[in-house]
Amino acid sequence: MTFTLALVGRPNVGKSTLFNRLVGKKLALVDDQPGVTRDLREGPGRIADIKFTVIDTAGLEMATDESLQGRMRKLTERAVEMADVCLFMIDARVGVLPADRVFADILRKKNAHVILAANKGEGKAADVTILEAYALGLGEPIRMSAEHGEGMGELMDVLRPLS
Ligand code: GDP
Ligand code: MG
Repeated sequence: MTFTLALVGRPNVGKSTLFNRLVGKKLALVDDQPGVTRDLREGPGRIADIKFTVIDTAGLEMATDESLQGRMRKLTERAVEMADVCLFMIDARVGVLPADRVFADILRKKNAHVILAANKGEGKAADVTILEAYALGLGEPIRMSAEHGEGMGELMDVLRPLS
């Protein structure tokens, strides 16, 4: 049995960086796979022995006439519907922004299974902002660095029961 993990969060928090890390070398093939929509990039993800499908809400970066807010909501709702679990990512360097609270509310309303991740957590700034993440009311944040590969063990621990 496997599961589907959706990476959600506002632009620039590091979703695609983590997607690339989870998908690894297979990334180049991802866009060519049938069934991949324009806005949600999907690929086979893996941490150690845990295998799953990972969805990146890629369309947040695309130029469009639609407002970013509306687009964020639509894409996130679709990702939530497709996924078994959502990794809700914030930027631990800047802390919780109003846009992050919008996402938190969408996820709560959808009754999504959420894992909170404070990405870009490799520096000292994250020592303080990680506390803000608790206040989102989505449980204990995983401090990680998608770029440097930190926190992957903790992520593995929370994903293992799903596999
Ligand atoms: P997305 O818009 O959420 O998909 O974010 P991206 O994955 O495109 O990353 C946005 C920027 O954050 C890029 O410049 C990344 O290199 C950077 N970034 C991603 N993860 C980390 C991290 O763990 N630490 C730091 N310092 N930068 C990161
Ligand atoms: Mg991206």
